Amino acid sequence: MASEMVDPDKLMDVIVVGGGPAGIGMGLVLRDLGVDRFGILERHELGASFRRWPKEMRFITPSFNANAFGMTDLNAVNTGTSPADLIGNGHLWGRDYAGYLGAVAAHYQLPFVSDCEVQAISRRPDGLFDLRTSQGPLFTRFLVMATGEFQFPNETPFPGAEFGLHTSRVESWMTLPPGPRVVIGGYESGLDAACALIARGESVTVLADRDTWTMGEDWDPSVIIAPRTRERLQKALATDRLRLRPGTRVERIERSGEDFIVGLAEGESVVTKLPPILATGFHSGTTRWPKLFAHTPQGHPRLTESDESVRMPGVFLVGPQVRHEKVVFCFIYKFRQRFAVVGAQIGRRLDLDLAPLEAYRAKGMYLDDLSCCLAKCDC
Ligand SMILES: Cc1cc2nc3c(=O)[nH]c(=O)nc-3n(C[C@H](O)[C@H](O)[C@H](O)COP(=O)(O)OP(=O)(O)OC[C@H]3O[C@@H](n4cnc5c(N)ncnc54)[C@H](O)[C@@H]3O)c2cc1C
Repeated sequence: MASEMVDPDKLMDVIVVGGGPAGIGMGLVLRDLGVDRFGILERHELGASFRRWPKEMRFITPSFNANAFGMTDLNAVNTGTSPADLIGNGHLWGRDYAGYLGAVAAHYQLPFVSDCEVQAISRRPDGLFDLRTSQGPLFTRFLVMATGEFQFPNETPFPGAEFGLHTSRVESWMTLPPGPRVVIGGYESGLDAACALIARGESVTVLADRDTWTMGEDWDPSVIIAPRTRERLQKALATDRLRLRPGTRVERIERSGEDFIVGLAEGESVVTKLPPILATGFHSGTTRWPKLFAHTPQGHPRLTESDESVRMPGVFLVGPQVRHEKVVFCFIYKFRQRFAVVGAQIGRRLDLDLAPLEAYRAKGMYLDDLSCCLAKCDC
């Protein structure tokens, strides 16, 4: 079947969907490669997820202005910028980081379009992708999905979860009604919630399916909590108002009069007067696009070695959902190392000179050999 004619003004070489760190970082690689026509489409405003973090929530990975000594700031999206340098803060608040992303996009004059939601994507017989957006149709040869996770919270992990309040819906821990709280989930979001509530004087019980805070064989911050969270946790435990219950699996929440009954797998239940806090994680934004991505039973997108969809060639993924076997790229300093890998694939197919990517490799921002990622430190 012949494809409809495409308005040349609406035809791109590459479209990146999502204007968080993954989308902006990918845009910088495309700019360095000299891609002629690309755009970054964002349904809200630049750095939207970070602007929606709870007001008190700060980065757990430190920012440090070490770029001049060849060590790129852990939270930077390229080698030439540093959030620590720009903001002057080691553990950024979400709004600070959104400000940094805005400054980067403006400095490098990235073709960024806000308030542009991608609502439907299909592939035409001529191979182009047809995007229906809130600002009209667009067409592209390659598509990079950078839609993240934060805006796709897991709010249905068990029956009755609708009685809970997911951490991503909290604007500020200070303005929630006072009283003892139950937090369900014991990784970074759950322990951040618990520490913030303890800091304002509450008592908190954390129901966690696993212990993320005791150092053991696991060393990867994708599995255990970061040093900053550990420090905060120690302070919170010293108040005697925090109870951690590892190995506890929640099966349901029920309402009984004024009470919320949290039912545990062991048959026991925990009763609380305030809605339990759900720190039950996030879905990958790719689950919204089943025609573009196949997923494992655990919900992880299936990708080639170059982070291209196995289901739809020409569609790539950047961001925290990228994983290969045991290597999980869930933090900025990890997933930024894959922008150049995707850039190399697209650049090769667009017949571009890939030499600019060597600068990424030289600064540790081009990771195509994953064998190094599972080695533990020497001591
Ligand atoms: C408690 C907590 C603490 C964290 N701390 C750290 C930390 O210290 N350091 C760290 O590196 N990471 C941290 N992270 C993880 C970090 O927030 C994520 O890895 C990061 O936000 C992912 O960036 P992204 O660009 O992939 O996604 P996002 O920042 O979520 O960007 C995705 C963008 O896509 C847009 N979008 C979605 N769908 C569409 C569509 N259909 N059309 C157009 N636009 C769309 C969204 O509006 C959004 O702006 C933390 C996360 C949590 C929950």
